[in-house]
Amino acid sequence: QMSWEKELQDLLGEEIVSLDGEIREKLSKDYYWYSPVLDRQLKGMKAADVVALPRNEAEVAEVLAFGYRSGKPVTVRGAGTGNYGQAVPLQGGIVLDLSRMDEIFEIGPGYARLQCGVRLATIDKKARELGQEIHIYPSTYVKATVGGFVSGGSGGIGSITYGNLWDGNVLEAVIYTMEEKPRRLVVNGDDLFNYIHNYGTTGILTEVTIPLATRTEWTQAIAQFDNFEQSLLFGEALAREESIRKRLIAPMEWPIPSYFIPFGKVIKANMAAVMLEFAEESLAQVEVLAGRFGGHLGHVIESEKYRKTVGVSDFTWNHTTLWAMKTDPAMTYLQAGFKLDSYLEQVRMLKDKYGDEVLLHFEWVRGGGVLIPSALPVVRFQSEERLYEIIHYCESIGVRIFDPHTWVLDHGGRGEVGGMERKKRQNDPKGLLNPGKIIYEM
Ligand code: FAD
Repeated sequence: QMSWEKELQDLLGEEIVSLDGEIREKLSKDYYWYSPVLDRQLKGMKAADVVALPRNEAEVAEVLAFGYRSGKPVTVRGAGTGNYGQAVPLQGGIVLDLSRMDEIFEIGPGYARLQCGVRLATIDKKARELGQEIHIYPSTYVKATVGGFVSGGSGGIGSITYGNLWDGNVLEAVIYTMEEKPRRLVVNGDDLFNYIHNYGTTGILTEVTIPLATRTEWTQAIAQFDNFEQSLLFGEALAREESIRKRLIAPMEWPIPSYFIPFGKVIKANMAAVMLEFAEESLAQVEVLAGRFGGHLGHVIESEKYRKTVGVSDFTWNHTTLWAMKTDPAMTYLQAGFKLDSYLEQVRMLKDKYGDEVLLHFEWVRGGGVLIPSALPVVRFQSEERLYEIIHYCESIGVRIFDPHTWVLDHGGRGEVGGMERKKRQNDPKGLLNPGKIIYEM
Protein backbone atom coordinates (compact mmCIF):
# COMPACT_ATOMS: atom_id res chain seq x y z
CA GLN A 1 0.00 0.00 0.00
CA MET A 2 1.30 3.41 -0.96
CA SER A 3 2.03 5.94 1.80
CA TRP A 4 0.05 9.19 1.69
CA GLU A 5 3.30 11.13 1.28
CA LYS A 6 4.14 9.16 -1.86
CA GLU A 7 0.60 9.60 -3.09
CA LEU A 8 0.98 13.40 -2.87
CA GLN A 9 4.31 13.16 -4.64
CA ASP A 10 2.77 11.11 -7.45
CA LEU A 11 -0.02 13.64 -7.74
CA LEU A 12 2.24 16.70 -8.21
CA GLY A 13 5.59 15.25 -9.18
CA GLU A 14 9.02 15.07 -7.54
CA GLU A 15 9.83 18.60 -8.62
CA ILE A 16 7.03 19.94 -6.41
CA VAL A 17 6.86 17.44 -3.55
CA SER A 18 9.92 16.43 -1.56
CA LEU A 19 10.24 13.60 0.95
CA ASP A 20 13.94 14.27 1.48
CA GLY A 21 14.86 14.21 5.17
CA GLU A 22 17.24 17.15 5.10
CA ILE A 23 14.87 19.38 3.17
CA ARG A 24 11.98 18.50 5.48
CA GLU A 25 14.15 19.24 8.51
CA LYS A 26 15.33 22.60 7.15
CA LEU A 27 11.89 23.78 6.04
CA SER A 28 10.25 22.81 9.34
CA LYS A 29 12.17 25.42 11.34
CA ASP A 30 12.17 29.18 11.62
CA TYR A 31 14.08 31.65 13.81
CA TYR A 32 12.34 30.56 17.04
CA TRP A 33 15.73 30.06 18.67
CA TYR A 34 15.90 33.82 19.37
CA SER A 35 13.75 32.78 22.30
CA PRO A 36 15.30 30.38 24.83
CA VAL A 37 11.76 29.42 25.84
CA LEU A 38 10.71 28.44 22.32
CA ASP A 39 14.10 26.87 21.69
CA ARG A 40 13.59 24.52 24.63
CA GLN A 41 10.09 23.63 23.45
CA LEU A 42 10.74 23.26 19.72
CA LYS A 43 14.34 22.11 19.35
CA GLY A 44 13.56 18.40 19.23
CA MET A 45 10.40 18.73 17.13
CA LYS A 46 9.79 16.14 14.46
CA ALA A 47 9.97 17.58 10.94
CA ALA A 48 6.98 17.70 8.59
CA ASP A 49 6.29 14.42 6.77
CA VAL A 50 6.47 16.05 3.38
CA VAL A 51 7.28 19.43 1.81
CA ALA A 52 5.38 20.89 -1.15
CA LEU A 53 6.91 23.73 -3.19
CA PRO A 54 4.17 24.81 -5.61
CA ARG A 55 4.75 27.27 -8.45
CA ASN A 56 1.22 28.52 -8.89
CA GLU A 57 -2.25 28.82 -7.37
CA ALA A 58 -3.56 25.66 -9.03
CA GLU A 59 -0.87 23.59 -7.32
CA VAL A 60 -1.58 25.30 -3.98
CA ALA A 61 -5.25 24.36 -4.34
CA GLU A 62 -4.31 20.76 -5.15
CA VAL A 63 -2.18 20.45 -2.03
CA LEU A 64 -4.95 21.94 0.11
CA ALA A 65 -7.59 19.63 -1.34
CA PHE A 66 -5.30 16.64 -0.82
CA GLY A 67 -4.64 17.66 2.80
CA TYR A 68 -8.36 18.03 3.40
CA ARG A 69 -9.20 14.64 1.87
CA SER A 70 -6.55 12.80 3.83
CA GLY A 71 -6.87 14.84 7.06
CA LYS A 72 -3.26 16.08 7.04
CA PRO A 73 -2.24 19.44 8.55
CA VAL A 74 -0.79 22.12 6.26
CA THR A 75 1.68 24.70 7.57
CA VAL A 76 2.64 27.49 5.17
CA ARG A 77 6.09 28.93 4.88
CA GLY A 78 7.55 31.98 3.19
CA ALA A 79 11.24 32.49 3.97
CA GLY A 80 10.94 31.09 7.50
CA THR A 81 12.42 34.17 9.20
CA GLY A 82 9.68 34.47 11.82
CA ASN A 83 10.73 34.41 15.46
CA TYR A 84 7.78 32.80 17.19
CA GLY A 85 7.89 29.29 15.75
CA GLN A 86 4.91 30.38 13.62
CA ALA A 87 6.09 28.32 10.67
CA VAL A 88 6.92 25.16 12.67
CA PRO A 89 4.54 22.27 11.82
CA LEU A 90 3.65 21.28 15.39
CA GLN A 91 1.66 18.25 14.25
CA GLY A 92 3.74 17.20 11.24
CA GLY A 93 1.88 16.81 7.97
CA ILE A 94 2.66 19.05 5.00
CA VAL A 95 4.86 22.13 4.89
CA LEU A 96 3.67 24.31 2.02
CA ASP A 97 6.67 26.41 1.01
CA LEU A 98 5.56 29.31 -1.21
CA SER A 99 8.97 30.83 -1.93
CA ARG A 100 8.82 29.76 -5.60
CA MET A 101 5.73 31.88 -6.18
CA ASP A 102 7.76 35.02 -6.56
CA GLU A 103 6.34 36.96 -9.46
CA ILE A 104 5.82 40.72 -9.41
CA PHE A 105 2.51 40.93 -11.29
CA GLU A 106 2.15 44.67 -11.56
CA ILE A 107 3.59 47.91 -10.27
CA GLY A 108 1.14 50.74 -10.85
CA PRO A 109 0.84 54.26 -9.50
CA GLY A 110 0.63 53.86 -5.72
CA TYR A 111 0.42 50.07 -5.56
CA ALA A 112 2.14 46.78 -6.28
CA ARG A 113 0.32 43.52 -6.98
CA LEU A 114 2.50 40.60 -5.98
CA GLN A 115 2.66 36.87 -5.75
CA CYS A 116 3.09 35.86 -2.09
CA GLY A 117 6.69 34.62 -2.32
CA VAL A 118 8.38 37.79 -3.63
CA ARG A 119 11.05 39.09 -1.30
CA LEU A 120 10.47 42.55 0.11
CA ALA A 121 13.89 43.82 -0.98
CA THR A 122 13.15 42.72 -4.54
CA ILE A 123 9.86 44.61 -4.54
CA ASP A 124 11.42 47.76 -3.11
CA LYS A 125 14.29 47.68 -5.61
CA LYS A 126 11.91 47.32 -8.53
CA ALA A 127 9.55 49.98 -7.18
CA ARG A 128 12.43 52.41 -6.63
CA GLU A 129 13.55 51.94 -10.23
CA LEU A 130 10.07 53.16 -11.15
CA GLY A 131 10.16 56.19 -8.83
CA GLN A 132 8.21 54.57 -6.00
CA GLU A 133 8.94 52.55 -2.84
CA ILE A 134 7.24 50.30 -0.30
CA HIS A 135 5.73 51.81 2.86
CA ILE A 136 6.92 49.40 5.55
CA TYR A 137 9.14 46.34 5.81
CA PRO A 138 10.87 44.28 8.48
CA SER A 139 14.63 44.47 9.01
CA THR A 140 14.76 41.00 7.38
CA TYR A 141 13.57 42.48 4.05
CA VAL A 142 16.42 40.87 2.07
CA LYS A 143 15.04 37.38 2.75
CA ALA A 144 11.47 37.84 3.97
CA THR A 145 8.55 37.29 1.58
CA VAL A 146 5.62 39.65 1.30
CA GLY A 147 3.18 36.82 2.14
CA GLY A 148 5.18 35.90 5.24
CA PHE A 149 5.36 39.52 6.33
CA VAL A 150 1.61 40.05 6.00
CA SER A 151 0.78 36.69 7.63
CA GLY A 152 3.41 36.67 10.37
CA GLY A 153 4.96 40.11 10.83
CA SER A 154 3.82 43.46 12.14
CA GLY A 155 5.87 46.49 11.09
CA GLY A 156 9.36 47.83 10.80
CA ILE A 157 11.25 50.38 8.77
CA GLY A 158 8.72 52.96 7.57
CA SER A 159 6.32 52.36 10.46
CA ILE A 160 7.23 55.74 11.94
CA THR A 161 5.34 57.25 9.01
CA TYR A 162 2.93 54.58 7.80
CA GLY A 163 2.14 52.54 10.92
CA ASN A 164 2.07 48.77 10.97
CA LEU A 165 0.39 46.19 8.73
CA TRP A 166 -3.06 47.01 10.12
CA ASP A 167 -2.83 50.70 9.19
CA GLY A 168 -3.82 50.41 5.53
CA ASN A 169 -0.59 48.76 4.47
CA VAL A 170 -2.37 45.85 2.81
CA LEU A 171 -4.85 46.79 0.09
CA GLU A 172 -6.09 43.43 -1.14
CA ALA A 173 -5.31 39.74 -0.81
CA VAL A 174 -6.16 36.53 -2.61
CA ILE A 175 -6.87 33.79 -0.10
CA TYR A 176 -7.34 30.03 -0.52
CA THR A 177 -9.45 28.08 1.95
CA MET A 178 -8.84 24.52 3.16
CA GLU A 179 -11.91 22.63 2.08
CA GLU A 180 -12.88 19.76 -0.18
CA LYS A 181 -12.88 22.28 -3.02
CA PRO A 182 -10.65 25.14 -1.85
CA ARG A 183 -12.31 28.49 -2.53
CA ARG A 184 -10.39 31.43 -3.98
CA LEU A 185 -11.39 34.61 -2.11
CA VAL A 186 -10.50 38.16 -3.06
CA VAL A 187 -10.39 40.02 0.24
CA ASN A 188 -10.26 43.73 0.94
CA GLY A 189 -11.43 46.32 3.47
CA ASP A 190 -12.01 45.26 7.08
CA ASP A 191 -12.10 41.59 6.12
CA LEU A 192 -8.30 41.83 5.70
CA PHE A 193 -7.98 41.93 9.51
CA ASN A 194 -8.92 38.24 9.52
CA TYR A 195 -5.80 37.45 7.53
CA ILE A 196 -3.13 39.95 8.61
CA HIS A 197 -0.80 38.30 11.17
CA ASN A 198 -2.85 35.06 11.06
CA TYR A 199 0.13 32.64 10.89
CA GLY A 200 -1.61 30.97 7.98
CA THR A 201 -4.38 29.68 10.25
CA THR A 202 -7.42 31.22 8.52
CA GLY A 203 -6.39 30.80 4.88
CA ILE A 204 -3.46 30.75 2.50
CA LEU A 205 -2.48 34.05 0.94
CA THR A 206 -1.29 33.59 -2.63
CA GLU A 207 -1.39 37.16 -3.90
CA VAL A 208 -1.28 40.53 -2.20
CA THR A 209 -1.57 44.17 -3.22
CA ILE A 210 0.34 46.69 -1.10
CA PRO A 211 0.49 50.48 -1.32
CA LEU A 212 3.54 52.31 -2.68
CA ALA A 213 4.78 55.82 -1.92
CA THR A 214 6.78 58.22 -4.05
CA ARG A 215 10.46 57.39 -3.90
CA THR A 216 12.47 59.39 -1.36
CA GLU A 217 16.26 59.75 -1.34
CA TRP A 218 17.15 58.47 2.13
CA THR A 219 20.10 59.69 4.12
CA GLN A 220 21.15 57.37 6.93
CA ALA A 221 22.84 58.59 10.08
CA ILE A 222 23.79 57.69 13.61
CA ALA A 223 23.12 60.49 16.11
CA GLN A 224 24.92 60.26 19.44
CA PHE A 225 23.96 61.57 22.88
CA ASP A 226 25.56 61.59 26.31
CA ASN A 227 22.65 59.71 27.78
CA PHE A 228 19.74 57.56 26.70
CA GLU A 229 17.03 59.96 27.90
CA GLN A 230 18.29 62.72 25.64
CA SER A 231 18.32 60.32 22.71
CA LEU A 232 14.72 59.33 23.45
CA LEU A 233 13.57 62.95 23.65
CA PHE A 234 15.33 63.72 20.39
CA GLY A 235 13.60 60.68 18.88
CA GLU A 236 10.22 61.94 20.01
CA ALA A 237 10.87 65.45 18.69
CA LEU A 238 11.95 64.10 15.31
CA ALA A 239 8.96 61.76 15.23
CA ARG A 240 6.67 64.75 15.79
CA GLU A 241 8.38 66.96 13.20
CA GLU A 242 6.01 66.65 10.28
CA SER A 243 8.14 68.68 7.89
CA ILE A 244 10.81 65.95 7.94
CA ARG A 245 10.15 62.73 6.05
CA LYS A 246 11.61 59.71 7.85
CA ARG A 247 11.70 55.96 7.79
CA LEU A 248 13.54 55.06 10.94
CA ILE A 249 14.11 56.51 14.44
CA ALA A 250 15.73 53.97 16.74
CA PRO A 251 17.38 55.17 19.98
CA MET A 252 19.71 52.61 21.59
CA GLU A 253 21.16 52.75 25.08
CA TRP A 254 24.82 51.94 25.63
CA PRO A 255 26.22 49.22 25.51
CA ILE A 256 23.85 48.09 22.72
CA PRO A 257 25.74 50.20 20.11
CA SER A 258 28.94 48.38 21.10
CA TYR A 259 27.44 45.19 19.60
CA PHE A 260 27.33 46.77 16.12
CA ILE A 261 30.70 45.47 15.04
CA PRO A 262 30.62 46.79 11.43
CA PHE A 263 30.12 50.32 12.86
CA GLY A 264 32.79 49.84 15.53
CA LYS A 265 34.98 52.61 14.14
CA VAL A 266 32.26 55.24 13.82
CA ILE A 267 30.27 54.75 17.03
CA LYS A 268 31.55 56.57 20.12
CA ALA A 269 31.80 54.56 23.32
CA ASN A 270 29.61 55.14 26.36
CA MET A 271 27.04 57.16 24.46
CA ALA A 272 23.51 56.45 23.33
CA ALA A 273 23.04 56.10 19.57
CA VAL A 274 20.00 56.81 17.41
CA MET A 275 19.82 54.97 14.10
CA LEU A 276 18.16 57.23 11.53
CA GLU A 277 16.79 57.31 8.00
CA PHE A 278 15.40 60.64 6.76
CA ALA A 279 14.95 62.52 3.48
CA GLU A 280 18.29 63.88 2.22
CA GLU A 281 17.09 67.50 2.08
CA SER A 282 16.44 67.41 5.85
CA LEU A 283 20.02 66.74 6.90
CA ALA A 284 20.67 70.25 8.27
CA GLN A 285 17.34 70.29 10.08
CA VAL A 286 18.04 66.92 11.75
CA GLU A 287 21.48 68.15 12.77
CA VAL A 288 20.01 71.22 14.44
CA LEU A 289 17.41 69.12 16.20
CA ALA A 290 20.05 66.70 17.53
CA GLY A 291 22.03 69.70 18.78
CA ARG A 292 19.02 70.99 20.64
CA PHE A 293 19.02 67.79 22.72
CA GLY A 294 22.76 67.93 23.34
CA GLY A 295 23.68 65.46 20.62
CA HIS A 296 25.37 65.42 17.24
CA LEU A 297 25.21 63.46 14.02
CA GLY A 298 28.17 61.13 13.99
CA HIS A 299 28.25 58.78 11.05
CA VAL A 300 26.31 59.97 7.98
CA ILE A 301 25.70 57.75 4.92
CA GLU A 302 24.70 59.79 1.91
CA SER A 303 21.66 58.86 -0.11
CA GLU A 304 23.71 57.75 -3.14
CA LYS A 305 24.94 54.87 -1.01
CA TYR A 306 21.46 53.73 0.05
CA ARG A 307 21.37 49.90 -0.12
CA LYS A 308 24.90 49.82 -1.52
CA THR A 309 26.71 49.55 1.82
CA VAL A 310 25.82 48.09 5.20
CA GLY A 311 22.78 50.13 6.25
CA VAL A 312 21.69 51.43 9.65
CA SER A 313 18.44 49.45 9.53
CA ASP A 314 20.50 46.24 9.70
CA PHE A 315 20.99 47.10 13.38
CA THR A 316 17.42 47.96 14.31
CA TRP A 317 14.19 46.17 15.12
CA ASN A 318 14.95 42.54 15.85
CA HIS A 319 18.32 42.82 14.14
CA THR A 320 19.43 44.54 17.33
CA THR A 321 18.81 41.26 19.16
CA LEU A 322 20.80 39.43 16.49
CA TRP A 323 23.85 41.64 17.09
CA ALA A 324 23.45 41.30 20.87
CA MET A 325 23.31 37.49 20.55
CA LYS A 326 26.48 37.53 18.45
CA THR A 327 28.27 39.20 21.34
CA ASP A 328 26.55 37.21 24.07
CA PRO A 329 24.51 34.11 23.16
CA ALA A 330 22.63 34.40 26.47
CA MET A 331 20.75 37.45 25.21
CA THR A 332 17.11 37.39 24.26
CA TYR A 333 14.41 40.04 23.89
CA LEU A 334 10.93 41.38 24.58
CA GLN A 335 8.48 43.47 22.58
CA ALA A 336 7.09 46.41 24.49
CA GLY A 337 4.82 49.40 24.16
CA PHE A 338 5.68 52.30 26.47
CA LYS A 339 3.32 55.16 27.28
CA LEU A 340 3.78 58.36 25.33
CA ASP A 341 3.07 60.60 28.33
CA SER A 342 5.29 58.76 30.82
CA TYR A 343 7.86 56.67 28.99
CA LEU A 344 10.85 58.37 30.63
CA GLU A 345 9.50 57.51 34.04
CA GLN A 346 8.83 53.93 32.95
CA VAL A 347 12.37 53.68 31.58
CA ARG A 348 13.80 54.93 34.89
CA MET A 349 11.78 52.41 36.91
CA LEU A 350 12.85 49.56 34.65
CA LYS A 351 16.51 50.55 34.77
CA ASP A 352 16.42 51.03 38.56
CA LYS A 353 15.06 47.54 39.00
CA TYR A 354 17.02 45.59 36.40
CA GLY A 355 20.09 47.63 35.45
CA ASP A 356 22.06 46.00 32.64
CA GLU A 357 19.91 42.88 32.68
CA VAL A 358 17.43 44.77 30.52
CA LEU A 359 18.91 46.98 27.78
CA LEU A 360 16.60 49.30 25.92
CA HIS A 361 16.21 50.32 22.33
CA PHE A 362 13.15 52.11 21.13
CA GLU A 363 11.59 52.01 17.70
CA TRP A 364 9.36 55.04 17.35
CA VAL A 365 6.25 54.12 15.35
CA ARG A 366 2.91 55.60 14.46
CA GLY A 367 0.08 53.11 15.01
CA GLY A 368 -3.56 53.90 14.29
CA GLY A 369 -2.41 57.46 13.66
CA VAL A 370 -0.86 58.01 17.12
CA LEU A 371 2.78 58.14 18.09
CA ILE A 372 3.93 55.08 20.07
CA PRO A 373 7.24 54.68 21.91
CA SER A 374 7.60 51.00 21.13
CA ALA A 375 10.68 49.06 22.16
CA LEU A 376 12.40 45.70 21.75
CA PRO A 377 14.33 45.42 25.02
CA VAL A 378 17.32 43.11 24.94
CA VAL A 379 17.28 40.86 28.00
CA ARG A 380 20.17 38.92 29.51
CA PHE A 381 18.45 35.58 29.98
CA GLN A 382 18.73 33.85 33.34
CA SER A 383 15.69 31.61 33.57
CA GLU A 384 12.14 31.42 32.28
CA GLU A 385 10.84 32.33 35.74
CA ARG A 386 13.00 35.43 35.76
CA LEU A 387 11.93 36.35 32.21
CA TYR A 388 8.27 36.23 33.17
CA GLU A 389 8.99 38.13 36.37
CA ILE A 390 10.41 40.92 34.19
CA ILE A 391 7.35 40.74 31.93
CA HIS A 392 5.02 41.01 34.92
CA TYR A 393 6.96 43.92 36.34
CA CYS A 394 6.74 45.74 32.98
CA GLU A 395 2.99 45.22 32.94
CA SER A 396 2.69 46.41 36.53
CA ILE A 397 4.18 49.78 35.56
CA GLY A 398 2.01 50.10 32.44
CA VAL A 399 4.52 48.89 29.86
CA ARG A 400 2.56 46.66 27.49
CA ILE A 401 4.33 43.42 26.56
CA PHE A 402 3.68 41.57 23.30
CA ASP A 403 5.16 38.27 24.38
CA PRO A 404 7.56 36.95 21.71
CA HIS A 405 8.12 33.69 23.61
CA THR A 406 4.95 31.95 22.47
CA TRP A 407 3.65 30.55 19.17
CA VAL A 408 0.04 30.94 20.25
CA LEU A 409 -1.54 33.89 18.43
CA ASP A 410 -3.94 34.66 21.25
CA HIS A 411 -1.05 35.00 23.76
CA GLY A 412 1.31 37.02 21.60
CA GLY A 413 -0.47 40.25 22.26
CA ARG A 414 -1.93 40.68 18.81
CA GLY A 415 -5.13 41.50 20.64
CA GLU A 416 -8.62 40.42 19.69
CA VAL A 417 -8.68 37.25 17.58
CA GLY A 418 -12.44 36.66 17.76
CA GLY A 419 -13.04 37.58 14.12
CA MET A 420 -10.23 35.27 13.09
CA GLU A 421 -11.78 32.38 14.99
CA ARG A 422 -15.01 32.77 13.03
CA LYS A 423 -13.08 32.85 9.75
CA LYS A 424 -11.13 29.81 10.79
CA ARG A 425 -14.31 27.81 11.30
CA GLN A 426 -15.57 28.87 7.86
CA ASN A 427 -12.38 28.48 5.87
CA ASP A 428 -10.81 25.52 7.64
CA PRO A 429 -13.65 23.33 8.95
CA LYS A 430 -11.35 20.42 9.82
CA GLY A 431 -8.88 22.66 11.69
CA LEU A 432 -5.92 21.59 9.57
CA LEU A 433 -4.23 24.93 8.85
CA ASN A 434 -1.16 25.30 11.09
CA PRO A 435 -2.78 23.56 14.07
CA GLY A 436 -1.81 24.70 17.55
CA LYS A 437 -1.19 28.34 16.65
CA ILE A 438 -4.65 29.65 17.44
CA ILE A 439 -6.83 28.55 20.33
CA TYR A 440 -10.49 28.45 19.40
CA GLU A 441 -13.67 26.44 19.72
CA MET A 442 -14.26 24.34 16.62
P1 FAD B 1 7.65 33.05 7.49
O1 FAD B 1 8.51 33.08 8.71
O2 FAD B 1 7.92 32.03 6.49
O3 FAD B 1 6.12 32.97 7.92
C1 FAD B 1 5.57 33.77 8.92
C2 FAD B 1 4.18 33.24 9.30
O4 FAD B 1 3.29 33.48 8.24
C3 FAD B 1 4.12 31.74 9.54
O5 FAD B 1 3.17 31.47 10.53
C4 FAD B 1 3.67 31.15 8.22
O6 FAD B 1 2.94 29.96 8.42
C5 FAD B 1 2.78 32.25 7.70
N1 FAD B 1 2.81 32.42 6.24
C6 FAD B 1 3.90 32.60 5.45
N2 FAD B 1 3.51 32.79 4.18
C7 FAD B 1 2.16 32.72 4.15
C8 FAD B 1 1.17 32.83 3.14
N3 FAD B 1 1.51 33.08 1.87
N4 FAD B 1 -0.14 32.69 3.48
C9 FAD B 1 -0.50 32.45 4.76
N5 FAD B 1 0.40 32.33 5.77
C10 FAD B 1 1.71 32.48 5.47
N6 FAD B 1 9.21 41.13 11.80
C11 FAD B 1 8.65 42.35 11.70
O7 FAD B 1 7.43 42.46 11.54
N7 FAD B 1 9.41 43.48 11.78
C12 FAD B 1 10.76 43.43 11.92
O8 FAD B 1 11.42 44.45 11.90
C13 FAD B 1 11.38 42.15 12.06
N8 FAD B 1 12.72 42.05 12.26
C14 FAD B 1 13.29 40.80 12.35
C15 FAD B 1 14.68 40.69 12.53
C16 FAD B 1 15.29 39.46 12.63
C17 FAD B 1 16.77 39.39 12.81
C18 FAD B 1 14.50 38.28 12.53
C19 FAD B 1 15.13 36.92 12.58
C20 FAD B 1 13.13 38.38 12.34
C21 FAD B 1 12.50 39.64 12.25
N9 FAD B 1 11.12 39.76 12.04
C22 FAD B 1 10.55 41.01 11.97
C23 FAD B 1 10.28 38.57 11.84
C24 FAD B 1 10.18 38.12 10.34
O9 FAD B 1 11.45 38.20 9.74
C25 FAD B 1 9.24 38.98 9.51
O10 FAD B 1 7.97 39.08 10.09
C26 FAD B 1 9.12 38.48 8.05
O11 FAD B 1 8.35 39.39 7.34
C27 FAD B 1 8.51 37.10 7.91
O12 FAD B 1 8.51 36.76 6.53
P2 FAD B 1 8.84 35.26 6.07
O13 FAD B 1 8.66 35.19 4.60
O14 FAD B 1 10.15 34.83 6.58
O15 FAD B 1 7.65 34.50 6.81
